[in-house]
Amino acid sequence: MTTPDEPSPCERTHELIPEIAAGAAAGDERAAALCHLRACARCRLELCEAAETVDELLTLAPEHEPPPGFEAAVLKRILRRRP
Ligand SMILES: [Zn+2]
Repeated sequence: MTTPDEPSPCERTHELIPEIAAGAAAGDERAAALCHLRACARCRLELCEAAETVDELLTLAPEHEPPPGFEAAVLKRILRRRP
């Protein structure tokens, strides 16, 4: 029972997962997403995979401090490429 205009909680969380995994999310949006993640196994799995990707990114370039938002930007690109 969702209206076409309103994104579902899963869709909203999906949008934020790169920021959360990279530690860049903040405020009410982050709190709402974390609340949803507690109840939704599918989104938790997605966050888990995103967090692993962040770890890999950081391992690949340990000597360079990435600019703020770097991980989130890369993650978004990676996640968007998925079917
Ligand atoms: Zn969900």
